[in-house]
Amino acid sequence: MRGRALAAVLASMGYDIDSPREAGTTRRDVLSAAAGLMAVGALTAAGPAAHAAAEPDSAAESDGGCGVGYDAEFEEALAEGDEAIPESRALAPEKPRRRFTLPLRKRYRVSARYGVRGDWAAGHHTGIDLAVPKGTAVHAVGAGTVVLARWSGAYGKAVTVRMRDGHYAVYAHLSRISVRRGARIGTGDRLGRSGATGRATGPHLHLEIRSRRGYGSDINPVRYLAKRGARLL
Ligand SMILES: [Zn+2]
Repeated sequence: MRGRALAAVLASMGYDIDSPREAGTTRRDVLSAAAGLMAVGALTAAGPAAHAAAEPDSAAESDGGCGVGYDAEFEEALAEGDEAIPESRALAPEKPRRRFTLPLRKRYRVSARYGVRGDWAAGHHTGIDLAVPKGTAVHAVGAGTVVLARWSGAYGKAVTVRMRDGHYAVYAHLSRISVRRGARIGTGDRLGRSGATGRATGPHLHLEIRSRRGYGSDINPVRYLAKRGARLL
């Protein structure tokens, strides 16, 4: 009941990105409430949520509202980068299977979960938002090839890595990018630093996992990483 009411609130006002000034305070309040409820496992769809990393950190840390949605600039740059780098070059020599890792090594707070309904083009949040102070190092969750590393509209400064299993990991809203397109990167390599570039109301990492290249092929990043030994929640 409580979860459903909250979802309705989030859908109706949480992501009204066209009027950020007007909606800002309310959105932050709603997101704070959401984060608080998530931390105690009150959101029914969320599954087990009580974990140190998911608990609200400090009041001083700003909430990261996320306006990432379909963005032609991002999708075109991604398609171009993906096609420019053939698969044969993308695949690193076979190594013993490495476990995946978390994208952040500092404490973070989940400011928006994957799949919550709202005013995104896909109708739901296509990634997970991890609120951290600006400048926090962002690491690759899995090895692969960088197919995009540039300013990308709503995604802000973003890095996309085509991973060895054919999935794509998108790291958005960065303040700084420290890899180049075409680079082969290993699990845990630093990709850049967190920020609030693009459509974001506060510093957070938007981590999105896609099963294919295109928008809408997103999958649950929490489950994807958990299967590979990295627990976001
Ligand atoms: Zn997001």
